[in-house]
Amino acid sequence: MFEEDGKAQLILELRQGGVTDRRVIDVMERIPRELFVPEALREQAYENIALPIGLHQTVSQPLTVGLMTQSLDLTDRMKVLEIGTGSGFQSSVLSPLCRRLYTIERYRELSQGAEKRFADLRLSNITTRVGDGSLGWREQAPFERIIVTAAAHDIPPFLVEQLSIGGIMVLPVNDGRDENDQRLLKVTKTEEGIETEELGTTRFVPLVEGDEP
Ligand code: SAH
Repeated sequence: MFEEDGKAQLILELRQGGVTDRRVIDVMERIPRELFVPEALREQAYENIALPIGLHQTVSQPLTVGLMTQSLDLTDRMKVLEIGTGSGFQSSVLSPLCRRLYTIERYRELSQGAEKRFADLRLSNITTRVGDGSLGWREQAPFERIIVTAAAHDIPPFLVEQLSIGGIMVLPVNDGRDENDQRLLKVTKTEEGIETEELGTTRFVPLVEGDEP
């Protein structure tokens, strides 16, 4: 029962925090976040906080997931690239809102855990890969939308390259001024280059270049 109450409260917090898109709210209401956190933390699954998922990584705060998803303005015809699969929670929110999702994670263990959850939840339009997501996924490019769920120092150039014209990329950027103060950016690719809009400040684990240690 605590889960249902917690969920209703969380949905309220998402709305108050600015998640107004009905489709995003509907999906977040349906996805069981308790399946994406370690068993010992299940009671906190519907709190609006980031939670550890092992290997020093975290599943993002639900409000951040909601706002980033909403700012992608998805349709069910879009091909989407996600960098930083982690637990797979953000992927599970994106999956019902797009045509196909490609998601890259640096740690094999996390990628495999996420893949199992996608199968259990019958989310069949997600393809996973283990590797350095800052290089993108060249064979599948271009993507109409790209979401990065780890903070880079700059906008990764390969990802801009692999975004279609008119496409949107949402990502946290940590320009080094303050480790804990990252800017959430919405980048739109145009014929001439890119347009950047700042959505606010946020806090993500770092995007680490290179393969799994
Ligand atoms: N979206 C995730 C949250 C992920 S935390 C969720 O909903 O659970 C960020 C993830 O990015 C971590 O799992 C981390 O291992 C991964 N990561 C960091 N650098 C990366 C890189 N260069 N390529 C792919 N994944 C990366």
